[in-house]
Amino acid sequence: MVADAVSAHQAAIDALARDEAIIAAPLWLARQAYLPNDEIERRQAAADPDAFWAERARLIDWIQPFEQVSRFDLPRHEWFVGGKLNASVNCIDRHVMTERRLKAALIWVGENGDEQTYTYARLYREVGRFGNALRKLGVGKGDRVVVYMPLVPEGIITMLACARIGAIHSVIFAGMGTQALKSRIVDSGAKVVVCSDVGYRRGKVIPLKPAVDEAVRDLTSVQHVIVHRRGSRPGDAPVEHESEREHDFYDVQDGRAIHCIPEVMDAEDPLFILYTSGTTGTPKGVVHTTGGYLVGVTYLARAFFQIGERDVYWSTSDIGWIVGHSFIVYGPLSIGATVFIREGVPDYPSPDVTWELCERHGVDVMFTAPTTVRMWMSHGATAPAKYDLSRLRLIACAGEPLNPEAHRWAQAHLVGQANGLVVDNWWQTEIAGPVLGTLPTFDVRPGKVGKPLPGADVAIVDSSGQPVPDGVGGLLVIRRPLPYMLRTIWGDHARYERYWQAIPGCYSAGDVAVRDRDGYVAVLGRSDDVLNIAGHRIGTADVEASLGRHAAVAESAVIGLPDPLKGERIKAFVVLRVGIEASPGLVASLKDHVRSDLGAIATPSELELRTSLPKTRSGKIVRRYLKAQELGEDPGDLSTLAD
Ligand code: AMP
Repeated sequence: MVADAVSAHQAAIDALARDEAIIAAPLWLARQAYLPNDEIERRQAAADPDAFWAERARLIDWIQPFEQVSRFDLPRHEWFVGGKLNASVNCIDRHVMTERRLKAALIWVGENGDEQTYTYARLYREVGRFGNALRKLGVGKGDRVVVYMPLVPEGIITMLACARIGAIHSVIFAGMGTQALKSRIVDSGAKVVVCSDVGYRRGKVIPLKPAVDEAVRDLTSVQHVIVHRRGSRPGDAPVEHESEREHDFYDVQDGRAIHCIPEVMDAEDPLFILYTSGTTGTPKGVVHTTGGYLVGVTYLARAFFQIGERDVYWSTSDIGWIVGHSFIVYGPLSIGATVFIREGVPDYPSPDVTWELCERHGVDVMFTAPTTVRMWMSHGATAPAKYDLSRLRLIACAGEPLNPEAHRWAQAHLVGQANGLVVDNWWQTEIAGPVLGTLPTFDVRPGKVGKPLPGADVAIVDSSGQPVPDGVGGLLVIRRPLPYMLRTIWGDHARYERYWQAIPGCYSAGDVAVRDRDGYVAVLGRSDDVLNIAGHRIGTADVEASLGRHAAVAESAVIGLPDPLKGERIKAFVVLRVGIEASPGLVASLKDHVRSDLGAIATPSELELRTSLPKTRSGKIVRRYLKAQELGEDPGDLSTLAD
């Protein structure tokens, strides 16, 4: 398995070994880096990890100090034992009590140009009022609230209101389809769903409410559905509700006080559940806790993203992903920065839009995905050159490998005016912030993520857990828990334990990586049947399960193929049930089915009908063979194939 996974990436490993070019980090950025000497920090953290994290814990406010920094009984690990805190207090109240009270916490721009600014004081009021509204509906500590909203301030207000009253939010990306939404509502046991009626994308209105109606129709466990109606404001005429349990986002806040007493949370109390794709087709609810998570993302917002409280920071991600949780909401708000967000895609209505907004709002630091950089690159350098980007000093990219061409283009055309830097970083939903990355204190090696960040103990190993030599591919593992790592999988602790079983004593990330002789790590791709489409993880099993729900499908196999823009695209091979006639209309209807079931990102871009699929004698579909066929490559050992 490991050997197969590594050999699939051998060409990339060889190409990296040939490409020795670097981008020198500008001295002025290195001089103002939060960690002045990463090498010393790395050594200190390795020598005394508890002291290192205890120091980081001072970045946040505790209601009650912790008694012990860490307690491990692997795979169980606890952090800041005995400490009490509230995440929303750290993100809001502690700024409201300072001169930051009237500074912009959040600047939101809609696709149509609508703009809203939330000062920290306004955020305090809105979060407090909605927190009280949720409490009035009977939501309390430990209850689950599903959030199905596009990138609107109300989504962030909902997350923070949950954090305030101790409810566990679970944000479902608003591009996901009905089945994906429903399975997550069921798995989390959510009592409340908060949704928007619509989203906006490429000038189109995207209805969201019908998916919620369909998902909750036969779910008696959902007691309330709160609908944020876009365009409606307090005082608007009442609207027809679908059912008794439905409420309007603004009406439900009527008469509620703005001061909302924060719930005192234990450091290890869950803050949120965020679903991701695994290899089995059932949703995987990653659980993050309050103390370790907040310490981690606050530290990393400063130490990795270099965000200071005076900065305007824009993440082009969405609250539906881990980036949105850690580095739209909790990290940057915890340090009191100004977070800029925009609903819609970064090249609509034109490729100018991102750069015009960067100029107008004076964006200092940006987080984006390699796929977005490639999309900007495909439009050419004219758009960014038209605007004053002289403040934009750092762009951090994550989610998938950042190819050297895209990296160099962004370095020249996006941060060139500021003499800034484009940096890569690696992490995942399970680990809520960067583990590997490039800091301004060392040079960039395009194609390589960078080095382990201080505090992270990372290794690249073979299937027996032995470290592989430099230049040889292996599995990426983390040898010591980090405070901002997941604690469990919601309702399935055994599934959590599997992260620690493949390589005993280590957390296996599921990625293949290689290290060069200077300690730079390149992450090449997954070692399992999980695809990475435009930076989003999609399990082949999820797509196959969705196809299996279509009446015409007998069985299917899904693979990822290289895509110049999205990194990977999905191709599905489908065997129809006996008696079903193949037709182009059927192919379109199968794709539509997956789109409405799982959402647009999980929809196959190609779908081929076949009479059979390659299988092992034990009946396991050999996706590797299909992929090799598609790419015209050698499929390797076929001795186990049945046919
Ligand atoms: P997600 O949990 O959806 O954020 O996906 C995490 C996965 O994305 C990782 O396990 C990697 O496979 C991939 N990934 C994230 N960041 C990078 C990066 N900087 N370079 C290469 N792959 C990455």
